[in-house]
Amino acid sequence: VQNLLEIFALGDEFTLPTPPSPHLPLPRTSPYLTHPIFNRYHSETELLRYLHKLETKDLSLTTSMIPLGSCTMKLNATSEMLPVTWAEFGKIHPFAPKSQTQGYQILFQQLEEWLAEITGFAGISLQPNAGSQGEYAGLLVIRKYHESRGETHRNVCLIPTSAHGTNPASAVMCGMKVVAVACDLQGNIDLDDLKAKAEKHSNELAALMVTYPSTHGVFEEAIQEICAVVHSHGGQVYMDGANMNAQVGLCRPGDIGADVCHLNLHKTFCIPHGGGGPGMGPIGVAAHLVEFLPGHAVMAMSDYNPKSKIQNPKSIGAVSAAPWGSASILVISWMYIAMMGATGLTDATKVAILNANYIAKRLEAHYPILYQGKNGYVAHECILDLRSLKKSANIEIDDIAKRLMDYGFHAPTVSWPVAGTIMVEPTESESKEELDRFCDAMISIRQEVAEIEAGKADVQDNVLKNAPHTAESLIIGEWNHPYSREQAAYPAPWTREHKFWPAVGRIDAAFGDRNFVCSCLPMEAYS
Ligand SMILES: *Cc1c(COP(=O)(O)O)cnc(C)c1O
Repeated sequence: VQNLLEIFALGDEFTLPTPPSPHLPLPRTSPYLTHPIFNRYHSETELLRYLHKLETKDLSLTTSMIPLGSCTMKLNATSEMLPVTWAEFGKIHPFAPKSQTQGYQILFQQLEEWLAEITGFAGISLQPNAGSQGEYAGLLVIRKYHESRGETHRNVCLIPTSAHGTNPASAVMCGMKVVAVACDLQGNIDLDDLKAKAEKHSNELAALMVTYPSTHGVFEEAIQEICAVVHSHGGQVYMDGANMNAQVGLCRPGDIGADVCHLNLHKTFCIPHGGGGPGMGPIGVAAHLVEFLPGHAVMAMSDYNPKSKIQNPKSIGAVSAAPWGSASILVISWMYIAMMGATGLTDATKVAILNANYIAKRLEAHYPILYQGKNGYVAHECILDLRSLKKSANIEIDDIAKRLMDYGFHAPTVSWPVAGTIMVEPTESESKEELDRFCDAMISIRQEVAEIEAGKADVQDNVLKNAPHTAESLIIGEWNHPYSREQAAYPAPWTREHKFWPAVGRIDAAFGDRNFVCSCLPMEAYS
């Protein structure tokens, strides 16, 4: 309180009594942090053990690859993460005067330059805090652009049916009308349908949102033509950059024909994002859109013109509370790019694509690969089609995802973008040994399914339906299953050397989604 008084030059007029009077600072009358967990741990050792106990319940990158398609769960290197802990980055207020944040300013400028080079765009805004917020900001920029040309009526956003759910959500939030574009059997945008829809809505066409390589994990060959069709009808192309891990150093959204693109720095550029954040979703825009990039009421952004001290009158305004979003984690991406260099980044992309194709080739005899380009290759991820197993063995996608836990693996992305399939993205961070271990697990699971198909294993009571197997379920009480405990818990050789024990068995996901459970103390605790 004394510090605050001094800041406002009132330090002389009010002096706090020492020791402070019981009335200053104002005593809190309501209880706070009442849950027992906040008062249980009083030594560092105990707190450490508590945190580690929580940590071991998580099947993280410390145990296995996390092959989540579209999520790009790559290494978050220690050297990239270290600067986040430095007070010079972590303890600066977002509105600190620029004279006190010169290092940050250099970092912003360099990162913007690098990202502009990587994407082929004229301007970058570091303000959006997530890919989805980048979509929102980018579509606002597109709307503002149309407005500036007296075309406020342009409000139709074309989105292929394969798109991530955030695409239509962002379009609706920007006041646009979503029109779906069909995909063909190979997973590509149906060009005829796109042309028809663009033609039909030619007058009102605001934008197309397109993901490249597509969410089906394939480089869409018609991508340049797709952009040209949209432009010929006066629309703008928003490229969803979540799959930039397959582009960096090889091709650039700006060259392909996109007008705006977001980058998920927490995917392609190494910011850790297990458990939901924090992320960063900067957008890049072509030259004609730079003047509309986000600004800020408190800080002059000087986004597009370092000499400008005034707010650009045409800016869409702020999309985040802080002018450069979650600025402190930008150092992670800065470190990644600085250490990799142009050659390293390009190599990473090539290895990411190579790894995905290696998995696709090793697994294709066991699981159909849903989408491939015309030469039989995928991009940086692949979709394994498990739908036929429902009919042949009553095996659902969840059964395989949960069984992977018994093998010590985090499941890939399940039922997205196609229900009943899994999408695998190994990233460049995984070694051939780890890719082989994952493939071995998937092949072994396919053999377990084959036992059910052949009638050798029970259709209901089998290693897949009961997965994951907790230690408790194996040890306590009678063992009444037709398979052995060993088959349940040690299905692969590496599990003997290091076994990840799932903390809970199978839960009823649909029931859980529909029945929220409050983890607060029961009402009696308050009486
Ligand atoms: C992850 C993702 C998004 C959303 O990005 P967030 O940073 O999670 O908001 C959008 N589109 C695709 C294809 C994605 O994979």
